Amino acid sequence: MYKKICTQCHQPSFSSCNSGTWICPVCDFDITNSKARTAESPTNVVSLINFTKYKQSTSLTTMKNSSINKLV
Ligand SMILES: [Zn+2]
Repeated sequence: MYKKICTQCHQPSFSSCNSGTWICPVCDFDITNSKARTAESPTNVVSLINFTKYKQSTSLTTMKNSSINKLV
């Protein structure tokens, strides 16, 4: 598994192979010429998914708090 950090938006992207054109999934920037790092363990992917979940739960909490504030 390979990992590249986008040179434009600095977001990591992952691919199973390091051949052919590599387009950043976040901003569609061509990062084919960027250096790929090997990411043998899927830890980075898992932490990325957990981070997304964390962000979602945080926004939910914020929504709850704001509705409580309106009640008060
Ligand atoms: Zn990007």
